[in-house]
Amino acid sequence: MRILLVEDETKVARFIKEGLAAEGYDVVTAADGDAGERKARAGDFDLIVLDILLPKRDGLSVLRNVRKLGIKTPVLILTARSATDDVVKGLDLGADDYLTKPFAFKELLARIRSLLRRERESQTTLKIADLRLNTLTRKAGRGGSSIELTAREFSLLEYLMRNPHKLITRQQLAQEIWGFTFDPGTNIIDVYINHLRKKIDRSFEKKLLHTERGKGYYLSDRKLTKAKD
Ligand code: CA
Repeated sequence: MRILLVEDETKVARFIKEGLAAEGYDVVTAADGDAGERKARAGDFDLIVLDILLPKRDGLSVLRNVRKLGIKTPVLILTARSATDDVVKGLDLGADDYLTKPFAFKELLARIRSLLRRERESQTTLKIADLRLNTLTRKAGRGGSSIELTAREFSLLEYLMRNPHKLITRQQLAQEIWGFTFDPGTNIIDVYINHLRKKIDRSFEKKLLHTERGKGYYLSDRKLTKAKD
């Protein structure tokens, strides 16, 4: 997940960047409004964290221009505690959430996760590397070829694609896909995972569906060094 952080206070920016990097996010920073807007326009970001008080151009103006260009990336604005007007203006201009300074890093992380989750849930076209799944047409494909899935395989793949780069336990899958509130203690999940793996990975060099032995599975175009639950 790529995040653009537009923040002029060097210390704050570094603190946030390091914290988010430790959580596995890829963070690009910009220290003023002009640079922020330029990067927001050029880059392919999953989320923008945008300070309002910035040199050269304030965050509200950056937000206005970015939205005018049709860029729909979720934006979390950072405002001073007393700046209620900025919050209202920001939300009117299309910000998705706000946080007042000073804030605890945990709070920022929770907001970011929630925005990214909301964004993922609203998407009908899910993508990981060259694997695609359309939840409206219920079509799946990888590279140039289409993939035929059973209803259960579809649900399984959709769940994994909505929770990418994240370790999903067998219990989670049992509950989310089969509706079991307990570990069924059978190998039904492994069987389905194997079917799915054949369909999405077998003919491709880059493997996307990974197994963490004894723990669960995750869908990603890279190996997780430390799978997060
Ligand atoms: Ca500032």
